[in-house]
Amino acid sequence: MTGPSASRDAGRGGGPRLMLRHLRDVMAGGGSPQDRLDSTVKVITGALGAEVCSIYVRRSGNLLELCATEGLNREAVYRTRMRFGEGLVGHIAETGRSLALADAQNHPKFAYFPETGEEIYHSLMGVPIRRLERVHGVLVIQHTTAREYTEEEVESLETLAMVLAEMISGGEIPGSAANRGEGSPVRIAGTRITGGMAVGRARLHRPRIVIRRVVAEDPDDELRRLTDAHSAMHDALDKLLDSTALAAAGEHRDVLETYRIIASDAGWIGRIREAILGGLTAEAAVQRVRDDTRTRMAGVEDPYIRERLTDFEDVALRLLQHLSPESDPVGEAEPEGDWILIARSLGPAEILDYDPTRLKGVALEEGSATAHVAIVARALDIPVVGGLANLLGEVEPGDPLIVDGNHAQVFVRPGEDAHALFRASMAARTFERAHYAALRDRPAISPDGVAMTLLMNAGLLIDVAQMPVVGAEGIGLYRTEIPFLVRREYPDVEAQTALYRQVLVSTGDKPVTFRTLDAGGDKRLPSFIHEPEENPALGWRALRIGLDVPSLLRQQMRALIQAANGRPLRLMMPMVTTVEEFRTARSFLDLELERADSRGTVLPASVAVGAMVEVPAIVLAIEALAREADFLSIGSNDLHQFLFAADRGGERMAGRYDSLDPVFLDVLRRIQQAASAANIPVTVCGEMAGRPLEALVLAALGYRSLSMSPISIGPVKEAILHTNISGLSSYLEFLTKSPSSSHRNRLRNYLAERRFSAGPTYV
Ligand code: PEP
Ligand code: MG
Repeated sequence: MTGPSASRDAGRGGGPRLMLRHLRDVMAGGGSPQDRLDSTVKVITGALGAEVCSIYVRRSGNLLELCATEGLNREAVYRTRMRFGEGLVGHIAETGRSLALADAQNHPKFAYFPETGEEIYHSLMGVPIRRLERVHGVLVIQHTTAREYTEEEVESLETLAMVLAEMISGGEIPGSAANRGEGSPVRIAGTRITGGMAVGRARLHRPRIVIRRVVAEDPDDELRRLTDAHSAMHDALDKLLDSTALAAAGEHRDVLETYRIIASDAGWIGRIREAILGGLTAEAAVQRVRDDTRTRMAGVEDPYIRERLTDFEDVALRLLQHLSPESDPVGEAEPEGDWILIARSLGPAEILDYDPTRLKGVALEEGSATAHVAIVARALDIPVVGGLANLLGEVEPGDPLIVDGNHAQVFVRPGEDAHALFRASMAARTFERAHYAALRDRPAISPDGVAMTLLMNAGLLIDVAQMPVVGAEGIGLYRTEIPFLVRREYPDVEAQTALYRQVLVSTGDKPVTFRTLDAGGDKRLPSFIHEPEENPALGWRALRIGLDVPSLLRQQMRALIQAANGRPLRLMMPMVTTVEEFRTARSFLDLELERADSRGTVLPASVAVGAMVEVPAIVLAIEALAREADFLSIGSNDLHQFLFAADRGGERMAGRYDSLDPVFLDVLRRIQQAASAANIPVTVCGEMAGRPLEALVLAALGYRSLSMSPISIGPVKEAILHTNISGLSSYLEFLTKSPSSSHRNRLRNYLAERRFSAGPTYV
């Protein structure tokens, strides 16, 4: 049996099960690994009636090498190589997705490798050879005719690739074990989620299970095993739900309820059964369906659907553990020392499950969708890098890693140069921290006597705990939606009261300004139905929701009144767009105060109601608003976004319009003057308040109160302590006469010349 036609006859007509058996016999048979590979491609050409079957294996440096072929020139074996992303084979490896093309040569990714003699073949079907998350190679078949491949054919080839993955990842391919790229340092660039650097060993957030047996001996047996494992998993979930530890409603309970629903999904279990009937073992079938779901949903960005995908993966994992309790869950073992958590994505609450003394950094395959994890990570001061392509394929549990949040990169198995960079950065950071800690109890007064109130922004209790550490004078912005974001169910009045009370207890007599729910836009609450909108940032969000569903806003106000329990209460509304909106919201609070009074609830000692200035329309009515509000607070992130019509989260827009643009400064000046004329306080609480140069400019414009993330308090205080604000004010006045799209460089030079520079924090 030498030519393709002979092998075709040998395997034809046996159906997928027979084909798998053939393959298993080849694998288990004698001969050298190369002999077995050669026989494998023969069996596959025969079984699928193909004219070509080739196996490309991954080599170090993300190269793919042709290791066996039936149909292409044999001289090309171990000679034809391509990079990940190069040609159709490289594209399959890079994307991890199968490809079936009737006319391969007209595909934009097609690349011609003359030594293979493949120019006579028109159609091509290729699938990744994957084990765990890692792509180990690509399996390809080709035909001379322009043939349309069916979905069943693609599935058959994918099943064969699963079997092959065992052989390849086991290091049986000549040169492959030593050459797989393991051990060599790799740098992966991603997107910055939080800054800072950390070193540690990779800890997998979700354990992976190695499947040792792929081809079924007896499908009926495998179906029985599946049924047993499935009912054992159900029992275990029921037991967990009934356990006293979970008796109270809570996030974990909701998760388990969701699992139970998924576990009963007839479609899911039906697909697993089908895969078993196709010749796979129960474990391989679960894995197969899991991979399919993941591939199908790879491009979906909707955070709700992505979360469901995670749930499906979790349930599949549980089922695998019930199927083979003895199988090794890779990654469950805790690596020694400090950890860098690696995951596809991570929920904001999940990060809290890990020992904070050992969790030093987080690296994620997905970036923007998990942005809420940033809020928690920032509070814990943990660097996070997201958007790291193929991270899970590249990293093995226990691998040494460096997460560099400052430059949005991760070093896998880092070399000495990466370690040197880490050491230098850590030394600088330790020095800075000690320096800022020494300033903690000093009031922020400039050399010319301008006293600034430095407050902090918070959204979680761990943030609140930072207040005495950084020396903040209170909380200028408590984002109430953050606790809602980490919960699957909407907190009722009682739960909200308890939470706000805890915040107030932790802050003692320092002031706290609560912002009413700012949901919508990029903050989609899991417990809330957000209709899809074309422009969510301009849509049904923030106060608009509260005005349309008064019960939501009133319940929150009720909870705040109860939590204040006789203490002063400060609350403000986000995204106020008209004075009328503010007036209506305020009337809701009056109703709640009356209600509380009539029920004998202790009323707050004082009530201050503020408006956030974030929308250009309200700036044009700022004098009228200032007459009605007790205080103003500028959400400069949104105000900048709406004034310049530039998405605050969009990477392309970042830095395009400067916050030190004279137009923006004019707007800020106008708001400050309106507040001052109405004799009410005004605070800036957007990101710019936490950047030293911007903070100085705000002080020069007349602002006396700034609210920022806790880690910014030190650098901003340092800048104020060394800067003559009245001098800067005059210089700013002078600059207004010169047209420019940003005063940044001139302001920076002005400060540097006067030796007021606070170092690299002046950006
Ligand atoms: C702002 O918009 O500047 C602000 C402080 O609110 P958030 O960032 O929560 O939208
Ligand atoms: Mg805002």
